[in-house]
Amino acid sequence: MTQRRVPGLESPAHCVHYQVAEILRAGIGVGAFVPHHRDVGRRLRDLHLAGSEVIATFEDGTTEVGDFLVGADGVHSRVRAWMLPGEAAARDTQMVSIGGFCARDFAPPADPRDATRLTFVVGPKYQFGYSRMNDGLWGWWCHAHAPNEAAGTKLLTMASEDLRACMLERYAGWSEPVERLIRDTVSWLRTPIHDLPHLSAWHKGPVLLVGDAAHAMSPAGGQGASLALEDAMLFAKLAADPSRPIEDAMSRFEARRRARAEAVVAQAYANDRRTLQALGPVAMWTRDRVMMPIFARFIEKALNDVYSSAACLSPRRRARDVMGSPTAGSHPAALASEAREITRGTRAAVARVHGPASSHP
Ligand SMILES: Cc1cc2nc3c(=O)[nH]c(=O)nc-3n(C[C@H](O)[C@H](O)[C@H](O)COP(=O)(O)OP(=O)(O)OC[C@H]3O[C@@H](n4cnc5c(N)ncnc54)[C@H](O)[C@@H]3O)c2cc1C
Repeated sequence: MTQRRVPGLESPAHCVHYQVAEILRAGIGVGAFVPHHRDVGRRLRDLHLAGSEVIATFEDGTTEVGDFLVGADGVHSRVRAWMLPGEAAARDTQMVSIGGFCARDFAPPADPRDATRLTFVVGPKYQFGYSRMNDGLWGWWCHAHAPNEAAGTKLLTMASEDLRACMLERYAGWSEPVERLIRDTVSWLRTPIHDLPHLSAWHKGPVLLVGDAAHAMSPAGGQGASLALEDAMLFAKLAADPSRPIEDAMSRFEARRRARAEAVVAQAYANDRRTLQALGPVAMWTRDRVMMPIFARFIEKALNDVYSSAACLSPRRRARDVMGSPTAGSHPAALASEAREITRGTRAAVARVHGPASSHP
């Protein structure tokens, strides 16, 4: 495989997209990636296949040539529009993510554990999440239903003070500090939620989709970033094998990832829908006093199967999660060993991204 590099991909990782690109680049070390436009100052406009090469054209008129291209360009992917013109548009889930950040002098919630965890508050209907962010600011988030375009536009464009009034009305009487977080919000975030339940293909020739470009999901799944990073880990590993053509690595990647990704997209969509169903007082009492205490252990285990971050915590199960359905004849021990190998390689790749090689042997 000819080694080519896209210039300008030298900056450190700052967000998931950077991490995805950097894991791929560090793991493989060859090929062209669609970079973050702020990173190289260019946005991808079009792609062409010429013989065994991929030619990427950017909006500023410049081009880059590579042996293959990984489209890690998000839910409204330009690479996907090129690859699958009929499937370019993501599904509108009719949910809008609403949230905000509070003033720096926001008085922390009474429970000190809230400072080091994500807290989700459930009511008869809807949910409300909050946490202290890395920079010390308190932030919160929720999803609102926008059953038609007009409702969505209204939520996305109404004045901040009107939105605050809406949120205060919705969460009136909820436990501390829900109302206080809304009252003290100084910076608002609003995002329409789109997802991709199923694409007919994840790759075409030497062009591959990863992350949200292939399987965007509602944040109600809490897994979009993790799946994007898992994609990067696995593809970097598969593509690093020089004995196989890159398209073979792409096919194997898709075969291993599809089942897990599509299941999590569906779960995220269902999570959103569930919060729209209002529970009566008896159903709420049963949920809070009977179901949760009895089933908390099982719920925790089910969540761990999806959300645990390290393959080594539960190698057998995690091996299946990371790599999709096990291939025919794969022994669990072999899968576990492969999962460990993926994470080991990734740690090395990330170490190379973040620090001098000498300090991360
Ligand atoms: C409101 C909200 C809350 C979320 N909360 C969570 C959460 O709690 N947990 C979680 O795991 N996930 C969450 N997610 C999902 C998570 O952010 C995504 O799954 C993750 O960022 C996907 O990473 P990615 O690299 O595939 O795409 P992205 O992070 O979207 O990166 C794509 C990049 O490609 C660039 N790009 C786009 N088009 C072009 C072009 N033509 N040329 C060049 N560059 C281009 C974009 O500028 C962008 O930087 C949330 C998402 C939203 C919207």
